[in-house]
Parts: sequence; structure tokens; C-alpha cells
Amino acid sequence: MKILITNDDGINAPGIVALAEAMRDAGDVVVCAPDSQQSAVSHSITLHKPLRCKDVPNFPVEGVRAFSTNGTPTDAVLLGIHAVFKEKPDVVISGINGGPNLGADVTYSGTVAGAMEGVIAMVPSIAVSMGAFENLRYKDCASFTRTLCEIVFKCDFPKDILLNVNYPNVAPEEIKGVAITRLGQRWYDDVVHERVDPRGRKYYWITGKKVLYGPKEGTDAFELERGYISVTPLTLDLTHDPVIKKLGDILANPSEFTESKCEFPFDVVRNPG
Ligand code: MN
Repeated sequence: MKILITNDDGINAPGIVALAEAMRDAGDVVVCAPDSQQSAVSHSITLHKPLRCKDVPNFPVEGVRAFSTNGTPTDAVLLGIHAVFKEKPDVVISGINGGPNLGADVTYSGTVAGAMEGVIAMVPSIAVSMGAFENLRYKDCASFTRTLCEIVFKCDFPKDILLNVNYPNVAPEEIKGVAITRLGQRWYDDVVHERVDPRGRKYYWITGKKVLYGPKEGTDAFELERGYISVTPLTLDLTHDPVIKKLGDILANPSEFTESKCEFPFDVVRNPG
């Protein structure tokens, strides 16, 4: 099995080392990851500067080929496939991220984007994140990830789906189980801090410490909080199916739905759904 590992915390992050260690004897393992912290870069791709893909001879896991790039996690996956393996791997694993990726986090996450790029290449892919920020039990999570790969990706599993895993940072005996979840709602409060620089000019720092959860059973944040390992199947098709028909109805006959007199000087073509 050819295994491509990436992350967004950078090639020197402890999470990627733990993951490579857990996967090392599962097949031909290549680690290709950014040379610096790339968290929250989302699915960005580098198109306007040269990309390097450097050998990392001192990567601390024996038997694993490791490379670093000056690009993003998405770039790292593309380089891993096209410059290192020179063919599609059997699986792409992105992580282990030092912090959760729940709900809307997946739209900012470089970790999740690494797995998205794998799915775009039609390679079964998985994004893995720890459900906490400190004293992280990467080794336990890496071991779970190895088992999950062995089970799921040896089945006839759809290739256009990625799995987003969030692992509770507790001892294995305290884990309640594995929950198949959907994306939940999670908001950061106190997001933009206004400060003043030494010259008296305002500047801003985006942060958001306090997290608010939408408490809903079956969602990733809720089940993680209850002590379950959250596994969410994600698709890149962001289309909202239930609203397709209604949107066609509204745009074709606005006067039935609103007092507004606006209408388009064009035909509205309904989507067959
Ligand atoms: Mn990160």
C-alpha cells in the first residue's frame, strides 16, 4: 500500500511524526508536508511562485521518505503524488492536527484541505485532528487512524468521500466509542481584537478563544465533547439539494413568494435534481 501523509502544522510537528510512526510498516510511506506552520490556509494552492520539494534526511521515523515544501498542504499533496510517488497513492492521510476541526472549522482547515486534495485525485483520504490543544495523546490517535485505514480503505468505499476524524484527548479506556457524525455548529466568540500600536494606530488580531456549540446529538462537536471519536464523512459537493426545487419556484415566479415587483428578463431553467 502506498501511503501519502501530509499536515498543516508543518513537517516538524509532533502529530505528523506520530502518524508516520504508526503507518510505517503498513506500506510504502511518504511524508510530504509544508516546511512551516500552515494552519487555517484552507485549500489554497500556490500558482505564482516556484515550489520546492526538499528531502528531509533527518525525519525522525526510520523507513519513511520525508519531504518538505515551501507551499501549502494542498501543494504538498500534489507534490507527493506527482513529484514523489509519480503515481496515485492508495491513501492520503492529513494530520494529526494539534487541535480540533469541527463544524465550520473544516472550511478554514489546512488539515481537511489536504484530504480534500486527495479526494480530488480520487484517492481515499482522511483528515485527523486532536480534540484539544495541550498535552496531546498523538500516539493513541495515530494507532486508531491506522486501524481505521485498515478497515475502511480495504472495503469498497466511495472514492469521492473523505473522512474527518476528531479524537478526544483522553486515555483509551475513557473513550466512549466511535460516533459517525455530521458537521455541527460551532462559533467562535470574541473573534476580532482591536489593539493600538506604539504609534497610536489601530490594528486587529483575529483570534476567538471562547467557543460556542450548537448542542445537537449526532454532530461532530457534540459527540466529541461526550467522549466519542467523531468520524464525519464529507463530500466536496457543497450543493444543498433540498433547496434546489424551492429556489427554482421562487426565481421563476417571484410574485407568488414576495411583494417585490422584481423579476428577471431571462428564463429560469429548473434543475432536474
Ligand atoms: Mn493545524
